[in-house]
Amino acid sequence: MAGRSMVRLLDFAVAGLFVLALTILGLFAWAARVADRNAFAIETQIVGQELGRVVTQFRNDLPNGLVDRARWQGVARETRLVLADDAARGNPPGGTGRFTGLLADPATRARIDELRAAFARVEPPRGHVEFIRLGPPGGEMLALAARIGRPGESPALAFELVDLPAMAAALETLSIELFPVTGPYAEPEAANGRLELAGLGGEIVGRLFWRGQRLAAIASRQILPALVAILCAASVILFLMRRRWRSAGESFERDLERVEQMAGTDTLTGLPNRRALFRHLAAIAPPAQAFPPITVMMLDLDGFKWVNDTLGHEAGDRLLVQAAAVFRAELGPETFLARLGGDEFVAVVPGEVVGGALTRLHAHLSETLRRRVPSSLAGTPVGVSIGAVSSVAEGGSGEHLLSLADIAVYAAKAAGRGAAVSYDGSMEVEKAFRRSLERDLRAAVLTRELRVHHQPIVEALSGKVVGYESLVRWQHPFRGLLMPAEFIPLAEDTDLIVEIGNAVLNQALEELASVGNCRISVNTTGRQLISPGFVEHVKALLVRYGVAPQRLCLELTETSLITDGERVGAVLTALRAHGVRVAIDDFGTGYSSLSYLMRFTFDTLKLDRTFIAALDNKPESPTIVTSITALARSLGMEIVGEGVETVQQQIFLAAAGVTCLQGYLFGRPVPLEKLVRGTAPLVPGAETATLGKTQRAA
Ligand code: C2E
Ligand code: CA
Ligand code: CA
Repeated sequence: MAGRSMVRLLDFAVAGLFVLALTILGLFAWAARVADRNAFAIETQIVGQELGRVVTQFRNDLPNGLVDRARWQGVARETRLVLADDAARGNPPGGTGRFTGLLADPATRARIDELRAAFARVEPPRGHVEFIRLGPPGGEMLALAARIGRPGESPALAFELVDLPAMAAALETLSIELFPVTGPYAEPEAANGRLELAGLGGEIVGRLFWRGQRLAAIASRQILPALVAILCAASVILFLMRRRWRSAGESFERDLERVEQMAGTDTLTGLPNRRALFRHLAAIAPPAQAFPPITVMMLDLDGFKWVNDTLGHEAGDRLLVQAAAVFRAELGPETFLARLGGDEFVAVVPGEVVGGALTRLHAHLSETLRRRVPSSLAGTPVGVSIGAVSSVAEGGSGEHLLSLADIAVYAAKAAGRGAAVSYDGSMEVEKAFRRSLERDLRAAVLTRELRVHHQPIVEALSGKVVGYESLVRWQHPFRGLLMPAEFIPLAEDTDLIVEIGNAVLNQALEELASVGNCRISVNTTGRQLISPGFVEHVKALLVRYGVAPQRLCLELTETSLITDGERVGAVLTALRAHGVRVAIDDFGTGYSSLSYLMRFTFDTLKLDRTFIAALDNKPESPTIVTSITALARSLGMEIVGEGVETVQQQIFLAAAGVTCLQGYLFGRPVPLEKLVRGTAPLVPGAETATLGKTQRAA
């Protein structure tokens, strides 16, 4: 379409250009004509004046009587001649100088006789000058003639040859090129000016030819051909452009058609896309008329983000193609399957798929996915979460059903992923709650509703407090004190986690700076680490609160290390170079804890509390704890046991070589003002009870 209108526009441009060019040419030709006409008139005047000068000279010099003849003739013997009427006067019939030979020509003699007869008939006034041509054809010369002699005397004729070369020289200075030729037929080719001289009887006796400055002539000789050439070239170029544009326009239209055909198809997976899905959903009538019933399912790949982030977009694309193929094959030809975007698929399944049927379908899809995912992705936690809603259970249009399936899949993911959940009314409330919570959280960061509580970390053997872990709390205006689990995951889904993390870091350093020489442990996430200027921000805070870098320990969970490992690694290196300590948090809970120990360098390993809680009831736990401790020690890391609640656990861990301990046994996270400082040293045996008492007292 664009191509066609482009061609039309070009046609208009070409037509306009031609009209403009022709108008300019016409105007130019007209102006040149007018200028030339004026130039010719001026030149004719100049040539005439020059001729007039010669005539005047001749007239002024004419002898008064025969007495003067010889003297006059002597002035310019070459070009002047007096011719008496008879030979008795003794004038040589052939003349002298340049007249020699001229008079011998019979045509000349005839013309002279004619002139003489005419002068006899009508006596001309004194000083009357006539033009006459003398000489044979081819050698003719222009001459001036006058009747001389006193009245009564027999008349004589005086001639003066017009010196054309001299005239040409005089005119040349005025840019007029006079051609020193005369005669009725001798017109030079280059001449563009002509002056005709009439004789007594009105006949043409001579012509003067010259070339003057003619604009039109110059134009037609030089400018016009160039102009025409330019115009031709321009039209050829425009013609070619037009042709190209037309073909471009045509291929554009063909592309457009193809795109329109494809518009309903997702290019990556070949499945119907969002557009096609909504077309399909629009055709689904409200359930009262919908027979047989349908189930709308939203399928969301678990682990897709992980694959995309860690293995790259190509791997992500491969996973999507693979998953699409699995869904397509397993859901059957009766199912309308579309890719909504990202890692979300929608299936419109015939019949009511709820309860056990949904669970079985989910299990089957998960299992097939696990088997079929490309080998390069093996070992990654790829699965699927499903949110489903049936047209029997819920009313409304196809689009409405999709929005409910969306809420259900959200609930499935919130429930720990890898689940299939049927929509129920309470979910909507939950989603609305999350949305309002997110809004409130944004405000909370600004209004300082976030609090930091500190939990002591003690030396395993002595029980002496060596530091605190600062944990965030949210003092919500009407929901009360919220724990991190209630809002940190939400913050992690948005950029809020960076602001929250930095706010906690700031508050922790501010509050604990003056608490002895304690270690300050703060939780951080990968996103926060790679946020611009993080290292400088940390350094600035340390300076502001006068805290030695060695006192700060940043705790990182494995999940937060997944994102952009390289950049995280660089930031960690920079922080450690400055003296800040780094701890790996919740060690042992992730997918590949050990691999992170190889990739990054940590100062501290925080042994997850699940291992410690299991010490009492799982027989293999003590072995796991001792092994991890031995490994960490051999790598030169300090070990902190988390979630220590009993004295037995404390004793076991201390004996296993765990450096420090943290847990309710030594103190819960509390605000600064409730902090118990200087816990009594732990001495094995009876002393442990003292420790317990101290805590209870606190
Ligand atoms: P975490 O880093 O593993 O923090 C220790 C959690 O274990 C804290 O829960 C703490 O109250 C709890 N805990 C400590 N001793 C015991 C015990 O003896 N028994 C039991 N059952 N629990 C104990 P909390 O404060 O609810 O924090 C939960 C998680 O939230 C933290 O786990 C941490 O991952 C995250 N979190 C807390 N504050 C922040 C923060 O400022 N930024 C980030 N990114 N995450 C934070
Ligand atoms: Ca922690
Ligand atoms: Ca932890």
